[in-house]
Amino acid sequence: MNFQEAQAKVEKLREELNEHNYRYYVLDSPTITDAEYDRLMRELIAIESAFPELITPDSPSQRVGGAVASTFSSYRHRKPLLSLSNAFNAKDLQEFNRRVVSMVKAPVEYVVETKVDGLSIALIYENGLLVKGATRGDGENGEDVTANLKTVRTIPLMLKTPFPRLEVRGEVFMPKAAFARLNSQRAENGETLFANPRNAAAGSIRQLDPRITALRTLSAFIYEITYIEGIELTTHWDSLNLLRELGFQVETHSRLCSSISEAIEYCSEWTAKRNSLPFEIDGMVIKVNDLHQQHALGVTAKSPRWAIAYKFPAEQVKTKVKDIVLNVGRTGVLTPTAILEPVRVAGSTVSRATLHNEDIIRNKDVKIGDTVIIQKAGDIIPEVVEVVKEERTGQEKDFIFPKVCPECGSHVIRPENEAAVRCTGGLACPAQVREGIIHFASRDAMNIEGLGPKVIEQLLQAGLIKNAADLYYLKYEELLKLERMAELSATNLLNAIEKSKNCSLGQLIFALGIRHVGAQAGKVLAKQFKSLDALSQASAEELMEVPDIGPRMAESIVDFFTEPQNQKVIDRLREAGVNMENKGHATYGGKLTGKQFVLTGTLPNLTRKDAQEMIESQGGKVSSSVSKKTDYIIVGSDPGSKYDKALKLGIPILNEEQLLDLINGKGTNN
Ligand code: AMP
Ligand code: ZN
Repeated sequence: MNFQEAQAKVEKLREELNEHNYRYYVLDSPTITDAEYDRLMRELIAIESAFPELITPDSPSQRVGGAVASTFSSYRHRKPLLSLSNAFNAKDLQEFNRRVVSMVKAPVEYVVETKVDGLSIALIYENGLLVKGATRGDGENGEDVTANLKTVRTIPLMLKTPFPRLEVRGEVFMPKAAFARLNSQRAENGETLFANPRNAAAGSIRQLDPRITALRTLSAFIYEITYIEGIELTTHWDSLNLLRELGFQVETHSRLCSSISEAIEYCSEWTAKRNSLPFEIDGMVIKVNDLHQQHALGVTAKSPRWAIAYKFPAEQVKTKVKDIVLNVGRTGVLTPTAILEPVRVAGSTVSRATLHNEDIIRNKDVKIGDTVIIQKAGDIIPEVVEVVKEERTGQEKDFIFPKVCPECGSHVIRPENEAAVRCTGGLACPAQVREGIIHFASRDAMNIEGLGPKVIEQLLQAGLIKNAADLYYLKYEELLKLERMAELSATNLLNAIEKSKNCSLGQLIFALGIRHVGAQAGKVLAKQFKSLDALSQASAEELMEVPDIGPRMAESIVDFFTEPQNQKVIDRLREAGVNMENKGHATYGGKLTGKQFVLTGTLPNLTRKDAQEMIESQGGKVSSSVSKKTDYIIVGSDPGSKYDKALKLGIPILNEEQLLDLINGKGTNN
C-alpha cells in the first residue's frame, strides 16, 4: 500500500468507525457486530502504525488514550461555569418564576431537564474538530482534560457539521451498572471503593494516565451551547436539537413547558421516578427557553438568573448506631458523629452521620445501639433524623460528652449562647492544627494536589511541619524519608505546593481558616481589598461596608490579624513567595462600569441582594452611603435618609423599572 492509498483507506475507515461508534453509543442501535467493529479498528490502527504521519487527533484510534501527563494544565473558561441556585419545592419554583417574569415582562417558556449527577465539562470544537475539553474547576479556571475526555465514546471527536467554533457544556457521568462493576472489581483487588458514581466519574476523568480513563465506562450528556459561530439560535430547545444533530448525546427526557405549573408538574413526576434511569440524577434543571430572555436576565456571581435546580427531597433509610465518636475540627469544635451500620442512600454508601452537637443528641435522644432513620440529600452530610424507639432493647447506652478534648486533653468549654463545645487547646491541640492544614490544602483553598489528610498527618508526625507555612519550606530529601513516599510522589507533591503559590488572593484568604470566612467571602474580600496587607489593616467598620460581610465575620477577621501567631505564619507565607495580591480580571460586559449606586427602600420585585448582584455583574458598584460620587440612587417604598440626602445633592433617582431599563440598555430619562 502506498501513502496515497493508505490515506484514502484511513479516511474511509475513520468515517465508518465514527458512524458505528455514534450508532452504538449514542443511538444505542448498532448496525454491525462488535467483532466487525473491532476488525475495522484493528485495520485502522495497523495502517496508522505503518504511516504514523496519518494519525490525526480525531482518529477513533485515539480514544484508547495516549501519553501519561505529569499534571493537568489549567484552562480559563470564556464564561465562568456557574453553579445553579436551588429550589426544594413548588413554592421555590413559583418564586423563581415570579422573579423571571418581573424582569422579562413577557410570557416565559421553560425547558425542564434531568439533573445528571456527574462532573461538569466544557468542550471546544474548531471547524468541527474537538480541540479542548476541560473540567469546571473553580468555575473560572478548569483543568485541561482533553486526552481523557477523548476516551469517552459518547463525546464526538468530529461533528457532523463543522461550525467554525462551538463551545458546549455538559456532564460526564458513570452509568449505575458500570459503577457497580467497577466497585466489585475493586473489592476483588482489595482497592478502596468509590462512594458513588459521581466520585467514580470524577476520579476517572482526573487520571493522569488516559489509558486508565479509557478503561472506565464513562458517558456524557451535553446540555448547553455556550458559544457558536455560524448560526443564530433563538431558543434553548432549538439548541438541544442542534446538539443532537451534531452527534452529541443529549438526555432524552427534556420537556418544553409553556408555564411554570407545567414545569412543576414535570418535576414532581420525576421525583417519583428518580431511580428509574440507568444513571443517577439528583434533581431537575429548569431553564428559560428564549435565549434573548436568558441574556436579559443575565447571571449573578454564583449562578445564572435564567435557570434553577430543583433538588429532590432527601432520601431516608433505617440503620443502627454502632458508636458515637467526637471529631475535633479546625476551630476546636467537638462534633459528635454517629458510626453506622453501612447503608445505601441517595446514591452512596453511608457509614457515618453527623449528630451536630450535644443538644441535638439530647433532644433526639440518640443512644449507642439505637436504630435510627438517617437522611441524605445530594452532597449534604448525612444526618440522623430520629430514633426508632420501638426497636429499643434496653441494651442501648447513653453517650456522655467528655470534659476534655479527646485529642489533646485540654479542657473543653461551651460558650454561652453557643451549641458547640470547644477544645481550648488552640495551636497546642494537634487535631486543630491538623484540620487547619487539611483545610489550607483543600480544593477550594490552596488546592494542593496530593496533599490529603494522610500525608499531612505523616508530615506532622515526622515533625516536618507545624503550620501551613512550613509546607513551603519542605525539602525533597526530607520527604523521601517518609514511608510510602517515592521519588515521583515527592516531586509531584513539591510541584503541587509550588504551584499553589499562584493561587488567587480569594483562595488564600479562605485557606487561612479565619472563622466564618468561607470561599465566597474570600472572593468578595479579595475583590474589595486587593491585597492581604490591605485586608489585614481593615477595621471592623470598613469590613462591614463590604456587601455580604456582617459584624460577626468582620470581628473575626480583625481578631485573626491581631493574633501575632497568625502574623508570623503570614510573614513566612509571603517570604516563600505565596501570592497575596488580587490580580483580578475586569468584570465583563460592563454597561455600568465605573458607576456608583446606592439602594434604599424596598423594591417591588428584586431583593437588595438581587439588585446589587445585577449592578455588580454589569461592572457597577453599590455603596452603603450617598456621597457626591454617587451616580444613581435606586429607591423603593419606605426609603430611608439616604433618599433625602440624594435629593439634596441632586443625584439622579431611579425606581426598579428604570434600573432594569438601564441594565438592559434602554436608557433612562433621568
Ligand atoms: P450545582 O453543582 O448543584 O450547583 O448544580 C450545577 C451543576 O449541575 C452544573 O454545573 C452541572 O454540572 C450539573 N448539571 C447536571 N445536569 C444539568 C443540566 N441538565 N443543565 C445544567 N446543569 C446540569
Ligand atoms: Zn484538643
